[in-house]
Amino acid sequence: MDDLQFGVRNARGDWAPNGPNLIAPFYRLPWQPAEILGWLKGYFLPWNVSWMALAALYWFFLTPDVATLQTLSPGWVLLLLLRNSLAVLLFYGAMELRLYIQRKQGTQFKYNHRFPGDHRSNAFLFKSQALDGIIRTFGTGVPIWTAYEVLILWCYANGYGPWSVLHQTPVWFVVFWLLVPIWHEFHFYCIHRLIHIPVLYKYVHSVHHRSVNPSPWSSLSMHPVEQALYFSSSLLHLLLPSHPLIALYQLNFAGMGAIVGHIGFDRILTGDDKAMDTHAYVHYLHHKYFEVNYGDGSVPLDRIFGSWHDGTKAGDELLEGRRKKRRDKWAADTPA
Ligand SMILES: [Zn+2]
Ligand SMILES: [Zn+2]
Repeated sequence: MDDLQFGVRNARGDWAPNGPNLIAPFYRLPWQPAEILGWLKGYFLPWNVSWMALAALYWFFLTPDVATLQTLSPGWVLLLLLRNSLAVLLFYGAMELRLYIQRKQGTQFKYNHRFPGDHRSNAFLFKSQALDGIIRTFGTGVPIWTAYEVLILWCYANGYGPWSVLHQTPVWFVVFWLLVPIWHEFHFYCIHRLIHIPVLYKYVHSVHHRSVNPSPWSSLSMHPVEQALYFSSSLLHLLLPSHPLIALYQLNFAGMGAIVGHIGFDRILTGDDKAMDTHAYVHYLHHKYFEVNYGDGSVPLDRIFGSWHDGTKAGDELLEGRRKKRRDKWAADTPA
């Protein structure tokens, strides 16, 4: 598959897709049914359906029964930690292996032509972006994720919180289940803006931004404070009527879904003439430019607050305009 049919490559070898990044079509008038249908397809496929299926697998087959969950004990807590770690190892590891170690598709559809593994940097533990990410992912990321899961399941088993069951509130169950990605996005936007406040950026979020050219192990490569904030989206399930199946989907959406913006490739080749869209470009631009795309456009907050970058030259110019305005203001405020 020729990636130049779908985008352009600059003189450095960095590839960018044709056409602008668009916020969700619901926020643009007039509504275009074909565009909304296309967006809805991308809302479910390929990622969200995968996290839903994983949540169902966990709840029905890989979570202890309610009687066991009622009492905290190291046995089942470690079991959850092990299954979450194994899922991350298999999924993140498969992406890293295929795209960054075996380099099965070279730089086809790759935003940044460089592979982080070719460039050792003092910014990372052991001078390796991948090793740094692996240590932070398994050292604190998955344990913090699992701690939220343990809290939620323990509360459910003991009847703490407004839990409902499917047969009592089927409509609400479906609505909440469908809104999991939207809530994730809204919550992520809010905590993300918060940790871009200079002092929090310096001590917390800068760890994640060391990956200017993100790769799969960058996904959960965060300071523990950021990881704790990031997975706190799951606490909504202790406040609104929910079900563990939806709470597990929320946690998988955050934990497994973190990889989506950090793959570094626009498409993953799956056959001679077939490829899977990754939806990674919006967040890639955040890592590249730092002050754009705090969310991914499924909630229009970046557009409302002027930080949306659509990936085009016009987006570059808007960003440069904002930076110039800030420089001018800083110069005007600074005594001569
Ligand atoms: Zn990121
Ligand atoms: Zn950021």
